[in-house]
Amino acid sequence: MVQSFNLQGILQSFRVMVSPRLMVPHIVVRDIRDINFEQLHKAGIVAIAFDKDNCLTRPYGHDLHPPFKDAWKRCRDVYKDQVAIVSNSAGTPDDKDDQLAKALESSLQVHVLRHKEKKPSGGQELLKHFDGIKAAKVAFVGDRALTDVVFGSNEGMLTILTKDVVTEEGDNPMAIRVGVISFDGDYGNG
Ligand SMILES: [Mg+2]
Repeated sequence: MVQSFNLQGILQSFRVMVSPRLMVPHIVVRDIRDINFEQLHKAGIVAIAFDKDNCLTRPYGHDLHPPFKDAWKRCRDVYKDQVAIVSNSAGTPDDKDDQLAKALESSLQVHVLRHKEKKPSGGQELLKHFDGIKAAKVAFVGDRALTDVVFGSNEGMLTILTKDVVTEEGDNPMAIRVGVISFDGDYGNG
């Protein structure tokens, strides 16, 4: 699977230089096991969306990282159908006939957003999916500050950065270089 050149992502990185706070997450966790979904829901976050690669699965994989099984069940129990995945591979125009998106939905049992713009652009497409829910009541979870955190920040969502990636095996080298600048400005995976 070839990941296409993300021009919007590069343009957004220039915007981040002007306004660096766009890439500062509200919450930093080790991985999704550290997210208290019950507490988050009680606090008024009524919908939640996730990045896929390195956050839930290995890059280009369809299966949940096995140690996350219980956490993922808790998330789905709390959020039910108000959970979605926003990937820069599955569900994009690169995903022929939505094959990746369908495989992922079958495996993870949540909706995979079909979207034209790649993160960090396209937040409006997610909000449209969560019909009628204000951005401030939506959390976005991902492992990359420049793509996932900025994606959520652009719309005013709560942003949660996962610091421990599942794996980088098979990932796009450019995506790695551009995407893993962490919230404190360090390069690397933290
Ligand atoms: Mg990722």
